[in-house]
Amino acid sequence: MIGILEAIQLVKENSKPLLIETTKPIEKSGSYKLYKDVFSPINMPPFRQSAMDGYALYLHDSLSYNLVGEIKAGDSHQPILKKGEAVRIFTGAPIPDTANAVMMQEKVLVKGSQITLESQININHNIRPIGEQVKKGELALKKETKLTPAAIGYLCSLGINNVSVFKKPNIAIVTTGNELVEAGEALDYGKIYESNSKMLQNALYNLKCYDVSIHKVEDDYDKTLSKLNEVINENDLVIISGGISVGDYDFVGKALEELKVEALFYKVKQKPGKPLFFGEKNDSLVFALPGNPAAALTCFYIYVYIALQKMMDNPDVELPRIKAKSASKFIKNGDRPQFLKAIYNDGEVSVLEGQSSAMLQTFAISNAFVYMSEDLSNIEIGDTVEVVLLPV
Ligand code: AMP
Ligand code: MG
Repeated sequence: MIGILEAIQLVKENSKPLLIETTKPIEKSGSYKLYKDVFSPINMPPFRQSAMDGYALYLHDSLSYNLVGEIKAGDSHQPILKKGEAVRIFTGAPIPDTANAVMMQEKVLVKGSQITLESQININHNIRPIGEQVKKGELALKKETKLTPAAIGYLCSLGINNVSVFKKPNIAIVTTGNELVEAGEALDYGKIYESNSKMLQNALYNLKCYDVSIHKVEDDYDKTLSKLNEVINENDLVIISGGISVGDYDFVGKALEELKVEALFYKVKQKPGKPLFFGEKNDSLVFALPGNPAAALTCFYIYVYIALQKMMDNPDVELPRIKAKSASKFIKNGDRPQFLKAIYNDGEVSVLEGQSSAMLQTFAISNAFVYMSEDLSNIEIGDTVEVVLLPV
């Protein structure tokens, strides 16, 4: 059995960025990072564009101009203006070649085909020049830029519809347990509804990992062996729930050994989540989480989270930890360090009743863990405690 810090360190050391290229349609590239520099295929804007609804002018000394036509957004005709002439123009419309300023309509008096400006304007005013944002062939976005909605909008404006990005891990969740039935099915005596797969799947979706498959195996050694063999070969990360403890029907440990998954650690001195396994085979990482739902999710946030962030090459690999004032008392049993389900709000934190590793009822309303180290035996109201903020 190892300590929490040592276990976290082993996860950090053994999880690496994937550095694999994949292509995504632009609308599905959100939160991915660019694998390569992107160069602009066009000038943006592609033509001299009006930034206002108003009048495009071929400037001269007088404030009066002859109105000779109209251009709206999307038009492609190009009237040729002489000095002292103007066209009505609208935002986004192409500016005639000889026009050299646009006056906003609020500052123009119109009388028939004569317009008069309120005041003189500077050359190029309200004209977006060709390639103002980026020129054809120039660097549009650098390699490793994270594709935010704005970045996606920008690439779309350049006509780009597929992007080369760093692959995110594909992940298999495997649940074990003869007692588990699917929500929607009848709950016969002795059975419980399966909760861990969809819970973990959603925790992964929250981290913007969407390539997730769910698998179920009974408590049967051969079936466990063949399922784990299959998913370890096909995924970058395998998260197993249950069957890793010491019961007669816990077959995960034995199967992982048979499959020659190298154990980086098994069992962590902590509560909940003592029977936690982390290992590696070829380029795949394997976590076997305890089946108790609250323990499984706690281990996900403290350990699997780090592996995922490292695989996606994100800078903040651990959940944020802060200090807060305790608004509740707690007495710890035993000497294992503990992650306590809690509610944090504005510098204050309350530990919830119901800390059993089977209890999701309290987890469902918590947004933080209070971390109690080995040497801490109780918390009093007003004590400063360490808090792990959960991504809720
Ligand atoms: P295990 O780690 O397999 O010994 O399971 C520990 C406890 O967690 C048992 O009470 C199981 O019934 C429960 N459990 C295991 N897997 C799940 C799951 N996927 N959904 C809900 N409860 C589970
Ligand atoms: Mg089990």
